Order: sequence, then C-alpha cells, then structure tokens
Amino acid sequence: SAPSRYAVFGHPIGHSLSPAIHQAFARQFGIALEYAAIDAAPAAFADAVRAFFADGGAGANVTLPHKAGALALADEASEAARRAGTANVLTPRPGGRLAAHNTDGAGLVRDLTERHRVDLRGHTALLLGAGGAARGVAWHLLDAGVDTLTIVNRSPAAADALADAIGEPARAHTRYWEDLADIGSFDLIVNATSAGVLGHALDLPFALAGARALCYDLSYGEAAAGFLAWARAAGARYAFDGLGMLVETAADAFELWHGVRPDTDPVYAELRARR
Ligand code: NDP
Repeated sequence: SAPSRYAVFGHPIGHSLSPAIHQAFARQFGIALEYAAIDAAPAAFADAVRAFFADGGAGANVTLPHKAGALALADEASEAARRAGTANVLTPRPGGRLAAHNTDGAGLVRDLTERHRVDLRGHTALLLGAGGAARGVAWHLLDAGVDTLTIVNRSPAAADALADAIGEPARAHTRYWEDLADIGSFDLIVNATSAGVLGHALDLPFALAGARALCYDLSYGEAAAGFLAWARAAGARYAFDGLGMLVETAADAFELWHGVRPDTDPVYAELRARR
C-alpha cells in the first residue's frame, strides 16, 4: 500500500525542519511515510488543510502563523490545545472530524528536564512574551513544579489575559515590561517572544539573570543568537536554544500518529551538528 501522508503547514515554510525530523524518526522503525512542507497563506489555510485530509492525509503539523487557525478549524481539542488557544498538531478522526493538539509546552519541559537534566521544582521563572508559544508553555512550566511564573509582555493586555486564564494569582502574575529593570533576578528566563525571528533585539537588563539562571530561547539558530549572547554576558549558568524543544514536540506528534516513541537524541545531535 502507498505510504501514509503527513505535512507541515506554515507561511513561509521553506526553512521547516519538520520533514527531516519525521523522516528520521520513521527510519528508526522502518516506517515508510511521505512528509511534505506546504506553504499556505492565511486566507488559504483552512481550505488547504481540509483538502489535505479529504485526500487521505494522515496527520499535519502546523506552524506560524496558523496555530490559532488550526485550533479554530478543528472539531475537537485536547486540554493542552484549549489552554494554549493554539494547535500545532491536527489528526483526522472518523466521520471527517479533525482533532487539535498542542505539544509545545510538553516539548519544552521534556527538553529541559530530560535532555538538559534540569529540575524545575522551586524555580522562580520569568516568561517573556504572551503569544501562542508563551500560552503553550506557561501551564506546563507550572505543572513541572516552577514555583512562581512572572509573565511580561510588551503589550500588557495579552500577559494579563494569560495570567487570568491560569487563574492562580499566587503562582502566576504579570509585570510591565518597563518593570524589568527592577524586578530582581530569576532562576529560569524563557524568551517566548518572536523578537529574534523578526530581527529585533530585546533590551534586557543583566540583573534579571542571577548566577544560577537558566536562560532558554524558544527559537533557534540566528533568531536565538541575540538572547543567548545576552544570557552569557549576564553571567547565566545555562543558555539554551529551542532546537531540543522542536525535536521533542515533533516526537509527541510522531507518537500520537504512529503509536511508538522515537529516540530523539540522535536526531537532535544530527540537527545540532548541522548548525
Ligand atoms: P506570536 O506571534 O503568537 O507571539 C509573539 C510574541 O512576541 C508576542 O508576545 C509579542 O508581543 C512578542 N514580541 C514580538 N516582537 C517583540 C519585540 N520586538 N519586543 C518584545 N516582544 C516582542 O508568536 P509565537 O508565540 O507563536 O512564537 C514565539 C517564538 O517562539 C517564535 O520565535 C517561534 O519561532 C518560537 N517557537 C518555537 C518552538 C519550538 O519548538 N522551538 C515552538 C513554538 C514557537 P506583543 O503581544 O506585544 O506583540
């Protein structure tokens, strides 16, 4: 029978590592699959997804700028997708229905705790950004035992909405971006802004990163370079980019679709060596 077909939808999509990651996972199990990168402009996204599944597509990943749209067009959603308000995985269900899931938060926590061997319990955490990715990771950081989560976003309303949705004021609260100069230091600083991807620098005070700080940028490659250079200059203990998170989020999708858990370490090492 023909190999089952998967795809990642984004705009732009040329840079996507998802096809290579899923093919590498598939080789671990001798699974033959097709995995395409499909560029869909926002106005064409919903029709492109429906056409893909109507034509027998077995699963789709969704990346920028379609993660909110992916949740909106799905017929059912996991708790992770509902909490994030976005989805990065779409899976067909009987009767032509589509199920949405979000693996971003679980992927970040697995990269931190399993690859980098960090125990998040008791950490004070600063989350920069309140967009789709930030919403995806906030709950998972709290679930992983982060003590307090301070959410700071350039536009305060989005940070307030996220803190309100979490609804645990003693553990998750917001501050203004202008307060960053005098809110002390944090054990964990997660950059979930898209500033790096957009080519903008974040002007962050060194005082945020104490000597035991772990700094993590959700983006990778050139987009993460500015934040990671800041972290090192600030004296942070660790400075990690989001490549490991990307591989872990892909592994969750792969397991959902194929029912087997891939070994992410060789795939991560291979991608790391290429950059
Ligand atoms: P969104 O567009 O949903 O959100 C962007 C966020 O960045 C908003 O909070 C926005 O603030 C903030 N922002 C943008 N520019 C600036 C700036 N110059 N200064 C301060 N804040 C800024 O994007 P996502 O949340 O989907 O993605 C964020 C990042 O996470 C991207 O770099 C993406 O590549 C990465 N990512 C990585 C993953 C991985 O697997 N490694 C998975 C998912 C995302 P405002 O509200 O004020 O506009």
